[in-house]
Amino acid sequence: MSYKSLEIEHLRHLIHSRNTFVLATHVHPDGDAIGAIQAFATFLRVLGKRVYVMVPNAYPDFLAFLDRSKEDKILIYKYKQKFCTLALREADAVICLDVNALNRMYALGEEIASLSIPKVVIDHHPDPVLNDFDLTFSDSEMSSTCEVVYRVICALEMVSPFPVGAVEPLYVGIMTDTNNFFHTVSAGTFEVAAQLLRLGASKEEIQQRVFGAFTEKRMRFMAHAVYNRMVLVRPYRAAYMTLSLVEQEQFGFRPGDSEGFVNIPMNIKEVDVSMLFVETPDYIRVSLRSRNGVDVNEMGKRFFNGGGHKQASGGRLFCTFAELPGIIMQALFESEAPKEQGQTMSELVNQSVNS
Ligand code: 5GP
Ligand code: MN
Repeated sequence: MSYKSLEIEHLRHLIHSRNTFVLATHVHPDGDAIGAIQAFATFLRVLGKRVYVMVPNAYPDFLAFLDRSKEDKILIYKYKQKFCTLALREADAVICLDVNALNRMYALGEEIASLSIPKVVIDHHPDPVLNDFDLTFSDSEMSSTCEVVYRVICALEMVSPFPVGAVEPLYVGIMTDTNNFFHTVSAGTFEVAAQLLRLGASKEEIQQRVFGAFTEKRMRFMAHAVYNRMVLVRPYRAAYMTLSLVEQEQFGFRPGDSEGFVNIPMNIKEVDVSMLFVETPDYIRVSLRSRNGVDVNEMGKRFFNGGGHKQASGGRLFCTFAELPGIIMQALFESEAPKEQGQTMSELVNQSVNS
């Protein structure tokens, strides 16, 4: 992606010529999603624009420190639908961040699709749905949408100095989407992170807020997930965990509490694919992680009604908990050659359930 491109000219013109913007992101917003919308909102507000920031459903508690302004609260579409609809009607343009398709925003995405105002996307997922947007900034080589947002704000050359209120959210987004600078980090990512530190990001404070602020219940829930619910499927170098609504209630689960759990089995020497299944009232939410060449973007698309990146993806299932082991085994069976030969599907299911 060239940041001196025609698209930057178009975006600069669009921002200059419009007054009211809606910024929106994907369902189950994570650190990159919240960081990107808050950083871009700050940038637009510095330019004197009116900005509404919306998410389809609740974000995790540990990101609330990025939503401190009383006047400019993040609007949760699920709870404030009427207000969001009014804001969308007032808007001159919509900017979607950390999504590659409007259907990643469910009902909010449908409402955005029905509007005839310009739609911009700034993102880092592969395969953006170009027809959904009028202007696309998408670079799947980037660690995070926040890294893209930093570069886009710089390339636009509309503010100087860099907006101080955008620094902390951008650092949070880069730090969380790379799992604390562990995945998909390039020399360029560290350069952007270094710039953010120079601009005043307090890495110790941010680390503590994001990774060091578990509630006791959340910590015990994580231990329960690993100790009681993690199943290893050794022939496929895979691990999965399932968390039902009943046990979530038992541990006082709050939205976002299982964020990051899917990364834990990746620390096991014998594991190249980790899968997390979290029951919600409407569906089972799926999170996938991989290494050593396993493509969970493809797996997410084929088996879990989702997708994402090659090494980090997600989706959702509409099945019962009892059906999960069979579906998981089918996904592994059809997308990955077993690392140990000679076992049938039913042997694998039995082995994994009993292990
Ligand atoms: P997470 O497991 O952290 O929820 O998501 C990991 C990655 O997969 C993120 O980049 C996220 O945007 C993407 N992802 C999660 N769920 C879905 C889904 O249902 N559809 C698509 N296309 N991507 C998803
Ligand atoms: Mn992201």
